[in-house]
Amino acid sequence: MGASGPSAAQRRGRRAGGRGDPSSRGDGAASPASGWLAGARRVPSPNFDARPAGVAIDLLVVHHISLPPGRFSGDAIERLFTNRLDARAHPAFEPLRGLRVSAHFLIRRRGELLQFVDADARAWHAGASCFLGRERCNDFSIGVELEGDGAHRFTEAQYRRLRRLVAALRARHPLRWIAGHGDIAPGRKSDPGPCFDWARVLAAPEVAGLERPF
Ligand SMILES: [Zn+2]
Repeated sequence: MGASGPSAAQRRGRRAGGRGDPSSRGDGAASPASGWLAGARRVPSPNFDARPAGVAIDLLVVHHISLPPGRFSGDAIERLFTNRLDARAHPAFEPLRGLRVSAHFLIRRRGELLQFVDADARAWHAGASCFLGRERCNDFSIGVELEGDGAHRFTEAQYRRLRRLVAALRARHPLRWIAGHGDIAPGRKSDPGPCFDWARVLAAPEVAGLERPF
């Protein structure tokens, strides 16, 4: 929604039970007509655009992030993804100045789920990347950030939430593959790193049938 209020189209969308403005709805509102997930806290990011027409969303990309690195508190991640991070607030933020990035989802250490971008749309999380010969993974993937730093184990609550997220996403998107950012951008990225328990995730019933071909 713009500053001038809902457009006629948005009002029509609401009456029709359509997408409307995600930021105006409370947590847990059902949204079967969009890629906004019930149960996620919505923090709409401007950093997204449309996917190419006709593309199947068949890849889930797992990342980790913490800001500043190694600190698991505060709101710097959501500030980064909404272009509200004050680069002067911490030396580690300076290199992030002017970045326009996002992920669809963030799972915090206690399992809280945040959503920044409609999963039907293209978030800007993977960058230069290649999956099984297909480049520009943002086109056909959903990006999930786990709050972490590559040195600490991820939490039980995060694994639980990730499993439930995968189940919810599969109700709408034909996910077939799962990969780490490091898998699709080797040499440039290494997340989610060796602390991420792939075997455990792949063994979960909600993830059954998804493959990680690395
Ligand atoms: Zn990443």
